[in-house]
Amino acid sequence: MAQESSKKVNCVACNKALKIVKRYYRDGKYFCNKNCYKAFLKKQTEEKQEKEKQEKEKQEKK
Ligand SMILES: [Zn+2]
Repeated sequence: MAQESSKKVNCVACNKALKIVKRYYRDGKYFCNKNCYKAFLKKQTEEKQEKEKQEKEKQEKK
């Protein structure tokens, strides 16, 4: 079975190019390792919280 191995994958957290052996697949995205996955999750959560905060402030200013 021939699989496409020419596809390049970058880590979502640090944008490093990943080798097939090293990549860490989670939630439809590729990461270097668990640490990058955790860092990405943390960043995503913080961004979400920040957005919610800004929207709340907008509503209060009405
Ligand atoms: Zn990474």
